[in-house]
Amino acid sequence: MSLIQDLNENLPKDAEITEAKFEASDMVLYTKNPEFFRNCDTVVRSIVSKLKKRIEIRPDQSIAMEPEKAKKKIEELVPKEAEISAIYFEPELGKVVIESAKPGLVIGKGGETFRRIKNETCWLPKIERAPAIESEIVRAVRNLLHSEIPYRKVFLNKIGQRINSPPKVEKDKEWARLSYLGGGRQVGRSSIMLETSNSNVLLDFGVDVGSDDTPYIDSPDFDIEKIDAVVLSHAHLDHCGFIPWLYENGYEGPLYCTAPTRDMMVLLCMDFVDVAQREGKKVWYKKKSIEKAVKHTIALDYGEVSDITTDIRLTLEPSGHLLGASLIHLHIGDGLHNVLYTGDIKFGPSRLFDAASTKFQRVETLMIESTYGASSNLMPGRRESEQEFMDLVNKTIERGGKVLIPSFAVGRSQEVMAILAGNHFKHPVWMEGMLWDSTAIHTAYPEYLSRYVQRDIFHKGENPFTADIFKRVAPKERNKILDSTEPGVVIATSGMLIGGPAVEYFKAFAPDPKNMLLFVGYQAEGTLGRRLQKGWKEVPISREGGKSVTLPVNLEVHSVHGLSGHSDRKQLISYIYNLPGKLERILVNHGESSRCTEFARDAHKIFKCETLAPKNLEAIRLK
Ligand SMILES: [Zn+2]
Ligand SMILES: [Zn+2]
Repeated sequence: MSLIQDLNENLPKDAEITEAKFEASDMVLYTKNPEFFRNCDTVVRSIVSKLKKRIEIRPDQSIAMEPEKAKKKIEELVPKEAEISAIYFEPELGKVVIESAKPGLVIGKGGETFRRIKNETCWLPKIERAPAIESEIVRAVRNLLHSEIPYRKVFLNKIGQRINSPPKVEKDKEWARLSYLGGGRQVGRSSIMLETSNSNVLLDFGVDVGSDDTPYIDSPDFDIEKIDAVVLSHAHLDHCGFIPWLYENGYEGPLYCTAPTRDMMVLLCMDFVDVAQREGKKVWYKKKSIEKAVKHTIALDYGEVSDITTDIRLTLEPSGHLLGASLIHLHIGDGLHNVLYTGDIKFGPSRLFDAASTKFQRVETLMIESTYGASSNLMPGRRESEQEFMDLVNKTIERGGKVLIPSFAVGRSQEVMAILAGNHFKHPVWMEGMLWDSTAIHTAYPEYLSRYVQRDIFHKGENPFTADIFKRVAPKERNKILDSTEPGVVIATSGMLIGGPAVEYFKAFAPDPKNMLLFVGYQAEGTLGRRLQKGWKEVPISREGGKSVTLPVNLEVHSVHGLSGHSDRKQLISYIYNLPGKLERILVNHGESSRCTEFARDAHKIFKCETLAPKNLEAIRLK
């Protein structure tokens, strides 16, 4: 392999490399020369700049300090305030994992402590954050990955060899096209296949939660055996819900996404299976296949540039929509074409996230969502919306009522928590079940939150999620809250009152005019949420035993529109304005049919380029 030869020529004579392996697009070398291991930084930097390949030098097991001794050494070197919760070893990778509540203190000023651990133990430290709220999901994912190291080492090497092999088709014969397997003129089952002369990459693979529709797996553009890589924008089910199905049906390739997206995908897909089982619907895959997806996930940080096939280079950047949510940028060929797929995007700051990134060098084809793409879809500003929200909550509390906020488990509920904590709200906020799990995942990845929230967490020690107003409620404790007269806020799923605990709270709160129902998210046509938004004064509700009764709606109903995780019309247009260079085409997806077509038509007038709102099963040639 020429890469290994190139590497050898650039390494010092006494590097004493015992093993050279790919780790996906990166190269990993194991050395048995402790001096070289300690002082390899300059060599590594020069190789990276020369060969344009990331490499990492790791210790061969023969030079690593004995684990028990190394553990003691680390405990000596790291200050107590770092609150180390676990130290364990991954000898196959030459790594020691240090889990700590304050990773910054394990790294030390200018990386000093990190360097000393490395130099004195001859283990490569890998520092992980212990979530501020214990998370079963984060724990399970970390345990799984730890137990699968031998498998992953082989898997990542195999992927690396494939990525680094020469492309099948030469430069002047290259082509690229996209086909829509879902998410065309609809919100749901987002899925797009990118085919080039050399590779096949699947972008998102979601379900339509409302109708249970899946992507068009019977399309001629979908051949599971030909997929080289899957890239996931974020963990909402309309983007990730069908990914485990791939692994259930023989796909064994990589899944690229951020670490928080991986963890939240696990939470939401597990729940998707549970709900389907409970409601007697078709169960598309076993939970084992969700694990299999995790086993094949290659987690990338924002801004990390990675080759994912012989001719496609991937970069994820923040999309402002959800924890870990990403814009997907794909550089095809050697400058042949650049595609940007927004997934779901918020081009404006929220409490939890900075606005979507625009820092790309080139974009020729943009695939953009249009959930709020119609010219009438304008939202009030965030500050006004937040004020409106707090005024409504406080007004209800003052008159002794309770506020019910139906919300998806991930996304708006954490935004609402941050708003309440940020406004020093003093009354109890009750939260049930999955909301708590997803909040716990947020506390494992504070570096994915907005600069503003990070400042509060890291410099002021104020974590919005651990404020003591937030009370976890188990389903069996629900009645206590329903019966109590204490004013407060309930955040519960589901977000559109289709089912879940939110409906139970609604039934109990509805007759009392002191209470309030407060919507912060999108309510789809046909849902109980949309009807109440329209002002229905009584609604049919099924009681136990399946009997339907009429429930009087006396509580106040309000919607605060400006807290959405999606961009409004103005923000979508402004996002496109802020992208660099001249776009060749804009493809509009992820919106109700009329919104997609209206946005595509107007974008054509504004940006004077080809625009299209593709239908499902349509294909577009890029090059
Ligand atoms: Zn989403
Ligand atoms: Zn979506």
